[in-house]
Amino acid sequence: MVDSKCVVMPTLFKALAELCERLEGISRRVISVNLVADFLNSLESDEVEPAVSMILGRPFTKWSQQTLDVSWATLREIIRRITRVEWKVFLEAFNKTGDLGSAAKVVFESCKVKRQAVLFDKPLTILEVRRSFEAIAETFGYGSKEKKERLIEALLSLASPLEAKYLVKILIGEMRTGFNEGLMEQAVSRAFQLPLETVKKAGMMLGDIGTAAALIKTEGVGALSKIGFQVFRPVKLMLAQMANDVAEAIKEHGGQTAFEHKLDGARVQIHKLGDNVRIFSRRLTDVTKSLPEIADIVKEKVKAHEAIIEGEVIAIDGEGHPIPFQHLMRRFKRVHEIEDIAEAIPVRLYLFDILYLNGESLISLPYIQRRQILAENAGGIPLTKHVITDSVNEAERFLKEAINCGNEGLIAKRLYSEYTPGIRGKHWLKIKPILEPLDLVIVAAEYGYGRRREWLSDYYLAVRDTKTGEFLVVGKTFKGLTDSEIIEMTKRLKELAIKEEYRKVYVTPKIVVEVAYNEIQKSPKYRCGMALRFARITRIRDDKTPEEADTIQRVREIYQKQFLKKGNIRVQNSI
Ligand code: AMP
Repeated sequence: MVDSKCVVMPTLFKALAELCERLEGISRRVISVNLVADFLNSLESDEVEPAVSMILGRPFTKWSQQTLDVSWATLREIIRRITRVEWKVFLEAFNKTGDLGSAAKVVFESCKVKRQAVLFDKPLTILEVRRSFEAIAETFGYGSKEKKERLIEALLSLASPLEAKYLVKILIGEMRTGFNEGLMEQAVSRAFQLPLETVKKAGMMLGDIGTAAALIKTEGVGALSKIGFQVFRPVKLMLAQMANDVAEAIKEHGGQTAFEHKLDGARVQIHKLGDNVRIFSRRLTDVTKSLPEIADIVKEKVKAHEAIIEGEVIAIDGEGHPIPFQHLMRRFKRVHEIEDIAEAIPVRLYLFDILYLNGESLISLPYIQRRQILAENAGGIPLTKHVITDSVNEAERFLKEAINCGNEGLIAKRLYSEYTPGIRGKHWLKIKPILEPLDLVIVAAEYGYGRRREWLSDYYLAVRDTKTGEFLVVGKTFKGLTDSEIIEMTKRLKELAIKEEYRKVYVTPKIVVEVAYNEIQKSPKYRCGMALRFARITRIRDDKTPEEADTIQRVREIYQKQFLKKGNIRVQNSI
């Protein structure tokens, strides 16, 4: 006889979907944190990480190399096939809600066809959903597109309208419940009754809050003291805040600081164990295949058996001068037959930090000591140029030199600061000499005219609103991209298309571009009341996610600052 107490019922995906639906409607953070904490407490150990990831809108852990690669265009066709609902129902719902998941729910509700879920009454569990995601991610090679579609179709066929809403949101990576990683840390802290700092630290070390929560659940809090770095598991990157000028950086860092050239390339975190080297990008994806010569150089030069080091990879011309960033991005995208492109676009590595060496974490050591250890272990790989100074004049000269060498500016590093993974704090301050370009997300595009009539060449650019999670348009531009980039962009945007209105195509906010502009103005043209003047795209930031795009709050800040400067000029003129 089976003891009924021992039979563990797997948690249904329906429960997770209902939780997310409640979170969407709650504005008080403590209430949502408590709800999630209770939910985490009710889960079995193996359900914790998948549930945390999914509530945050991720199919897998943050550091996972698995990706679903499902476009909205594909998903749309699958939903149409399953539901056989007239598409105008979807468009109306999307216009009303502005959200793909919610619109999918409406379509599922309108579906009169008896679907598998109804026929077999087989409810989806959280673990089954995770297994489906894994199967989708593992599909590649010949015939993979069809196989992927079949797997997604099978998954969605089992879903109720509410479940479909959240599956769609996870599949396309747009959760938008407002429940972010910071709140999840609070929920985990509450669920397992641990200090928030302990939970944050565990998340940082393991590179993922879900992995940390699962470890606490299975092994208890004692396991946290044993967490350390593990080579080949990337660690979240330390990031920099903006400073207006070198004087501000010196002051902020207590009168003296280390300035380093800020190279205009791509951040890499390199893990080495014996002869094995793996390179992770800023988004912590494995890019080793795209940069074989960098892996070789580290293997050859870095003598340490085990190390995690960081630096910037830049593209260079025949004379070794840095060349524009978009060339480098072409290198990052290529994973097959890379010899030709490696010859056409040579790259160079500059190192600037070391996090781990032969079994020892170095992140608690002060910056100057880490830099010293890095220099001793770099084996001749160049480090970023740096000076330690308390003089504004010297720092300004160094900034000019950095710009003249084709770099972006400087990064000031507090001499006695630790390496803080995942934190964009004041220990690192970036200084760029001109009006800081903005990283914006393309949310719609229009077909051009004349030669460009077949291309989506006019782009609507949006910032994030951190309060609501919405993307708000602040400008429009057809300037900056080359013809071949526009052709490629057209292809990508069509894949992301949500709806078309005459010549305008609305897209899922996925693509981030860096945009230069002359001024920010108050303007009634866009809903947010701000508009960029003379916006032009300076590069496509495939290394950034929409969550990393600039915010409306930042745009308002820059607006205020320009206003102040103009005020000063007027005062000076009048003297
Ligand atoms: P941003 O991408 O504008 O937030 O600026 C921070 C980025 O500057 C880092 O993530 C690195 O990719 C890059 N960077 C370039 N040079 C350095 C340096 N010397 N130290 C740290 N980061 C650098």
